[in-house]
Amino acid sequence: MNIFFDTDYTWLGVDDTIRPGTETIFKQLVEDGHNIYVWSGIGIRWAEVRRHKLEKYVIDCFMKPLDNFIESLDHLGLPVKPDIVIDDYPEVPSAMVGIWIRPYFFYNASDNELERVYELICEYQTRKKSQ
Ligand SMILES: [Mg+2]
Repeated sequence: MNIFFDTDYTWLGVDDTIRPGTETIFKQLVEDGHNIYVWSGIGIRWAEVRRHKLEKYVIDCFMKPLDNFIESLDHLGLPVKPDIVIDDYPEVPSAMVGIWIRPYFFYNASDNELERVYELICEYQTRKKSQ
């Protein structure tokens, strides 16, 4: 599946820390055969992806539409479409297939939201395969 991760407050804090579990989930998803893309409403975030040493897991970075999500995907001319999106902003996962994640603002060692996200992605994939 093409899995699109939002950036700010999804895996990147306001304090520029990386959410605990980010590298683990990226690695697991790549090992499971998924394609990871990072997008953001404020631009293409390769700098942040590289700063946090995630570039080996990420296929590409895109600009995320800010509204009219489904229609905008065509206008943006993305080379791939998301099968599942992970976002702290509820409008995005509710417009597409997606998982809402509690916003991550500041470093918090006990934040384990990404473990839940990984379980949900696995569940979704299992269900999709059995359809
Ligand atoms: Mg966000």
